[in-house]
Amino acid sequence: MGALTGKTALVTGASRGIGRGIAERLGRDGARVAVHYGSNGAAAQEAVAAIEAGGGSAFAIGVELGVPGDAERLWEEFDRHADGVDILVNNAGIGTSRPFEEIGEEEYDRLFAVNVKAPHFITRLGARRLRDGGRVVNISSGLARAAVMPELMAYAMTKAALDVLTRDLSKVLGPRGITVNSVAPGIVDTDVNAGWLRTSDEAWRDAAGYSALGRVGTPADIADAVAFLVSQDGRWVTGHWLDATGGSLA
Ligand code: NAP
Repeated sequence: MGALTGKTALVTGASRGIGRGIAERLGRDGARVAVHYGSNGAAAQEAVAAIEAGGGSAFAIGVELGVPGDAERLWEEFDRHADGVDILVNNAGIGTSRPFEEIGEEEYDRLFAVNVKAPHFITRLGARRLRDGGRVVNISSGLARAAVMPELMAYAMTKAALDVLTRDLSKVLGPRGITVNSVAPGIVDTDVNAGWLRTSDEAWRDAAGYSALGRVGTPADIADAVAFLVSQDGRWVTGHWLDATGGSLA
């Protein structure tokens, strides 16, 4: 029996990267996992297959986020497969690297729609499905707390807003025994960074140099931090911002 046996988890953006790492870890811990994806159904099915190959249980739900009605559609899809949820991980997110002077309104609105509005309404509509004693984890970023990469300012602003959702929601859902926390990764080796991280040994070394531990983060590094917060061991931690940057902000 795993630590999460009998629990149901929904991880948004779980077809790839950090979300997939989280989904696989929660599946290994015994949770039945809803693997949400946007457009990449094949990758989501691979994630489901990987969880099942490890002895776990999972299903995929595809809903584009950042468009009107997204949260309603996501829960409608979820409800077709499961009756209630214990763990909600708001992981799906997008980034953009553009100087302050250049970011346009459309790009700015899209960032906030996917990274802030979607998790807000997913959590709001999910609250009545969340069982008492449940868990909400929002995937933030170290950039919400440090101006390490100012060209990612608008993205960092979305994560700071998400952290306010975490903080205040912990008071709203706390009376039901539901904890709400943010986990903030630093640079993680996922598709979102592939365009620069994997272009040269120098880029990789520079990225590793941000971390006190001298390496680039992996999805499993973040998944293990999430696993603690959603476990019974994490029951007294809420409204917290967990630095999972490998010491990049130290
Ligand atoms: P990723 O590899 O690009 O994966 C993003 C995931 O989110 C995919 O499953 C994707 O689904 C889904 N997604 C993206 N936009 C969506 C949309 N509009 N509608 C529905 N689904 C959407 O990203 P990642 O690097 O794993 O990042 C995951 C989270 O960690 C994000 O919130 C990100 O901001 C945060 N983070 C990442 C890093 C890093 O260095 N990687 C650092 C700090 C924080 P499809 O594939 O189906 O499109």
